[in-house]
Amino acid sequence: MTNGPVRSVLIVGGGTAGWMAAAALSRMIPTGLSVTLVESDAIGTIGVGEATIPPIRAFNAALGIDEAEFIAATAGSFKLGIEFVGWGATGERYLHPFGVFGFDQEGVRFHQHWLRRRAAGVREDIADYALCAVAAREGRFMPPASDPASVLSQMNHAYHFDAGLYAAFLRTRAERAGVVRVEGEVVEVIKEGERGNVNAVRLADSRILAADLFVDCSGFRGVLIEGAMQAGYEDWTPWLACDRAVAVPCATGGDGLTPFTRSTARPAGWQWRIPLQHRTGNGYVYSSAYLSDDEATATLLANLDGPALAEPRLLRFTAGRRRRQWIGNVVALGLAGGFAEPLESTSIHMVQSGISRLLALFPDREFSGVEAATFNRQADVQYDQVRDFLALHYHLTHRDDSPFWRDAAARAIPDTLAEKIALWKRAGRVFRRDDDLFAEDSWVAVLLGQGLVPGGWDRMADLTDPAMVEQRFVRLRALFADAASRMPRHADYIARVAPGR
Ligand code: FAD
Repeated sequence: MTNGPVRSVLIVGGGTAGWMAAAALSRMIPTGLSVTLVESDAIGTIGVGEATIPPIRAFNAALGIDEAEFIAATAGSFKLGIEFVGWGATGERYLHPFGVFGFDQEGVRFHQHWLRRRAAGVREDIADYALCAVAAREGRFMPPASDPASVLSQMNHAYHFDAGLYAAFLRTRAERAGVVRVEGEVVEVIKEGERGNVNAVRLADSRILAADLFVDCSGFRGVLIEGAMQAGYEDWTPWLACDRAVAVPCATGGDGLTPFTRSTARPAGWQWRIPLQHRTGNGYVYSSAYLSDDEATATLLANLDGPALAEPRLLRFTAGRRRRQWIGNVVALGLAGGFAEPLESTSIHMVQSGISRLLALFPDREFSGVEAATFNRQADVQYDQVRDFLALHYHLTHRDDSPFWRDAAARAIPDTLAEKIALWKRAGRVFRRDDDLFAEDSWVAVLLGQGLVPGGWDRMADLTDPAMVEQRFVRLRALFADAASRMPRHADYIARVAPGR
């Protein structure tokens, strides 16, 4: 190979990852690059993946996608956070909202003042001081205001959407931008001798598709990254025990179109509830070491808001990541690169950040390995940060009503997480390291939400007059309650911006 520019890319796989990659590459590198996507209708896609986190707005914006058009096309709804039910202990619930808690005061983080007040005997839910949480609980929604002086600048949101409709929406845009779609199953990967890079793939009907760069979006199979390049897989089961999910959509009922995802702890895992415009997505994520598939399915079906709209689907997975996401001229995105259970809705984001990294490090045809090394290092850090954040939820449980939860609390945690918890326990400090996907306030929400109140607080908070702090807290709480009460109801907002479904 020479070191000229990459002129052709073959994306293997047409799930959410494949079409996100196709749409982004054709938009961001519009000239001189031919993009082909091959997908197998017979294999199909995973078909779940409906809740997201706020950075997806930046991805859509970069593709020039209008929010209202997107919400209409994907039967989507708005998400202000996740409600965790029964995670700390049975009967408890808390919200992990997007956005921030209150405002820092005199250079001291808001939650430090909250901790000081708590030590003085004030018992209040810190979520009362996050506008996203206050609005979410009331079933209301507004997008953030761009004026930082407006209280609405504290809003922040992501989406729930039908992943199949999103992939179709992106496919239309990608094909319009010149991406060629090929239907067929890759049955052989043809590698060059010397460096072991991939030259082409052979389809079941003997067609051969060659390219300079290959993007593996083939899902759990990892047809190229594992099948051909043997990247290896780091198994996170010692930290994250769940290895199965059973998923089923149902008619919307119960709380209706909530602007938040709900995660309810169950005897051997947890159940998601994701409200869309035309249905509610549900799934029970569990560990096969503690529960049979039949029991999981029965529990899921017994805990739906409305009648099931399809047969339950069983999905098997191993939490973890490829040891290398980029080898030679093969880059893995999506499930081909790794998977952590959807507890904090991170998988689609990992696709997005993989695409951003690929664009920033886009190789030439020398494939020197330097770009790959940086890509892999950054990907490892991000995957591990997500692993730690998810492990935190299990580690902090007080449940002792089933072997699954008793073992979850006793399970060893990664050193990086242990260090973070130790720092928190002393004085409520938590830091965002290496561009941690989850900012400080996300950690604060889960740590406090699951009852880990630190032994102390940042004593700099003592330097502000307590009476003044008190006044500000009272004002802020009232301001947020008032602002939320003036927002439209979530369903009304959707009907207004994306009518017609
Ligand atoms: P897939 O959807 O599996 O697509 C793989 C593609 O590769 C398909 O088109 C298939 O046909 C093709 N393919 C495979 N082998 C071949 C071959 N040999 N030849 C040709 N084509 C081939 N993410 C979130 O962000 N939020 C969530 O709430 C969420 N919930 C989830 C719940 C569960 C239970 C699971 C398992 C995942 C969840 N995810 C979630 C993850 C999310 O579904 C995926 O990250 C996302 O859909 C991307 O999947 P993918 O495109 O990598 O793989």
